[in-house]
Amino acid sequence: MEDNCIFCKIANGEIPSATVYEDAEFRAILDLGPASKGHTLILPKTHAANLFELPEETARKAILVAKKVGKALVEGLDADGLNVVQNNGAAAGQTVMHFHMHLIPRYDSDGAGVTWTPGNLSDEAKEEILGRVKVD
Ligand code: AMP
Ligand code: ZN
Repeated sequence: MEDNCIFCKIANGEIPSATVYEDAEFRAILDLGPASKGHTLILPKTHAANLFELPEETARKAILVAKKVGKALVEGLDADGLNVVQNNGAAAGQTVMHFHMHLIPRYDSDGAGVTWTPGNLSDEAKEEILGRVKVD
């Protein structure tokens, strides 16, 4: 746990939360500022600021928790779809610097804003990007 990290405190039960699911390594809670009905956050109980700091084993398990909890949300709330969103860094909209995944149930015509305006991938940009990005 990291001092002064609110999600460490919530994940480990020091601060009460509306818990949808809990196991030894994760807690899933209702978001206090939901984008839609049932908006849920998956929090690992150990601190990692973001995806890049998350241990591989925790990352593997996190997607399985997302699958399980997401299914329960969609079925339990009669949702029509589900967005899985995960922000890294302030520029990407991350406001709490403890890794978390958003599960946002979607309902036909709910107007929830999980979207962007599509741009255009030029040949020049494509070549530059493919030349610069090296995956280990
Ligand atoms: P992000 O912008 O990806 O860092 O998301 C942070 C999310 O945490 C936002 O959707 C907030 O509404 C939510 N949030 C912040 N504090 C709390 C809290 N104490 N309990 C539940 N959700 C919270
Ligand atoms: Zn933390």
